[in-house]
Amino acid sequence: MTKQRKISLSEAEMPESWYNIVADMPNKPLPPLHPQTQEPIGPDALAPLFPMGLMQQEVTPEKWVAIPDEVRHLYSLWRPTPLYRAYGLEKVLDTPAKIYYKYEGTSPSGSHKPNTAIAQAYYNKQEGVKRITTETGAGQWGSALSFACQHFGIECEVYMVKISYHQKPYRKLMMNTWGASVIASPSNKTQAGQKVLANDPDSPGSLGTAISEAVERAATDEHTKYALGSVLNHVLMHQTIIGQEAVLQMEKAGDLPDVVVAPFGGGSNFAGIAFPFLRYNLEEGKNIRCIASEPASCPKLTKGIFRYDFGDTIGMTPLLPMYTLGHNFVPAPIHAGGLRYHGAGVVVSQLLKDQLIEARSHQQLECFEAGIQFARAEGIIPAPEANHAIATVIAEAEQAKREGKSKIILFNLCGHGNFDMSAYEAYLSGKLTEHELTDQEIQQAISGIDTPEIA
Ligand SMILES: *Cc1c(COP(=O)(O)O)cnc(C)c1O
Repeated sequence: MTKQRKISLSEAEMPESWYNIVADMPNKPLPPLHPQTQEPIGPDALAPLFPMGLMQQEVTPEKWVAIPDEVRHLYSLWRPTPLYRAYGLEKVLDTPAKIYYKYEGTSPSGSHKPNTAIAQAYYNKQEGVKRITTETGAGQWGSALSFACQHFGIECEVYMVKISYHQKPYRKLMMNTWGASVIASPSNKTQAGQKVLANDPDSPGSLGTAISEAVERAATDEHTKYALGSVLNHVLMHQTIIGQEAVLQMEKAGDLPDVVVAPFGGGSNFAGIAFPFLRYNLEEGKNIRCIASEPASCPKLTKGIFRYDFGDTIGMTPLLPMYTLGHNFVPAPIHAGGLRYHGAGVVVSQLLKDQLIEARSHQQLECFEAGIQFARAEGIIPAPEANHAIATVIAEAEQAKREGKSKIILFNLCGHGNFDMSAYEAYLSGKLTEHELTDQEIQQAISGIDTPEIA
C-alpha cells in the first residue's frame, strides 16, 4: 500500500453547519460592557455597525448554525481544503510523531480569512447594506473581504495602515483587482484620520487609527456597515468549517490527534481548527490538547491578564472580557502582522481561563527557522503567522523523540507566505531581530490598564 499524503473530501462532504462551542462550554463567556456606562449590552447596541443577522449569531445559544446555501456554494470554489500528512517534515525531524496539517492557503486570497468574509458579506447583503468598511494591517483580511464583497456586489472600503500600504503594494493591488477602494490610513476622509494628521502629517498609521476610521465611516452613514476579521464570536464560529472538515479527514486517515496546534492573533484560525476537536473533550471526555501559538513580542495568552478591555486603541468599542496586554500596548513591528493584536477573542479567553486549552510563545527567529525547515521539507511556503504553529509542532515532535513515544499532531497551516517574501528576505539575509518583552515591560503595559477587573 502506498503511503497516503493528501487526504481529500468531496464537495458533498463539506459540513453544512458552523459549530458554536458556546453551547458546550461549562462556563459561558461574560457579557460585553458599554464603553462608557460599563453596563452589560445586548446585540442591538451594535446594530449601527453590524447587520442583525451577525449580531444574532454573536449571542446565539444554538450549537449548530446552518451555513446558507449561497455561502456554501462560494466556499466550494476552494473547499473542502486538503489535509496533508507531513512525511517530509517527519523525516527531517527524525521523530516518531505523526504530523498532519490542514492547508487553508488554497483560498483565492491565500488564507482562512474568506471563510468568514464570505459569510459576513452574505448577511450584510441580506439586509441591503451597500458598502462595508474595514481596516487591514498586513492585508490578509482586506483582501479576503474585497473578494467577498465583489461576489455579492457590495462596495468595499479598506483603511490600510499607511506603512503597510507602501510596503505591501501587491496586497493593495489584489484588493483593487477585486474592486475595493484602499485608503492609506490616517486619511483625510474621516475626522479620526484628520485628527491624527493634524498632530503628525507624516504618521505611518496604526491598526488602532485604521479601525477608528473604518468605524467612523460606518457609524455616520446608514448604508454602510463595518466588518471585523477576528476576535468576535461569529467570526470564530464561521471558521469552524476548518476543524469540522479536519475531523472527517483525520477519521479517514484513521488517526485521532493527540495535539492540535494553530497560530494565534485574535483567535479565529485557532478556533476554526481546534473547536470541533474540543467538542470531543467537552462531550465525550476525550483529552485532545489544543495549543495556541503566539509571538514572544505580543504574549497576551501566556503573559497577559484576564480582564475587561477595549478591542481598539482609542476605546470606542465595547469592553470585552479577555486576555489582554492592555489596549494601549503597541507590539514590536514583527513580520507576522496578523499576530500583532493586544487582546484575544472572548470565547478563547474563557476556555484558556478554564484550562481547557493551552498557549505557547515563540521568538521571531525560531519561527522563521521552523517555517524554512517546513518549506524545504513540504514545499509550501507558510505565512509568517503560521510559522508560530510550526515552531510549536517541532517542539512537540522533538519531545516525542526524546521520550521515544508516538504522538499524533495536527496543525493549521492557515495561509501561504507568497506575498510575504520581504519577511523571508530579512531572515535569509540575517537582518531579522528578536523582540522579546522583559517582565518589566509586560508589568508596565498591564499596570496601565484602567478598565474593569473581573472578580
Ligand atoms: C489574520 C491572520 C492570522 C491571525 O488571526 P487569527 O484570527 O488569530 O486567525 C493568522 N494567520 C494568517 C495567515 C492571517 O491572515
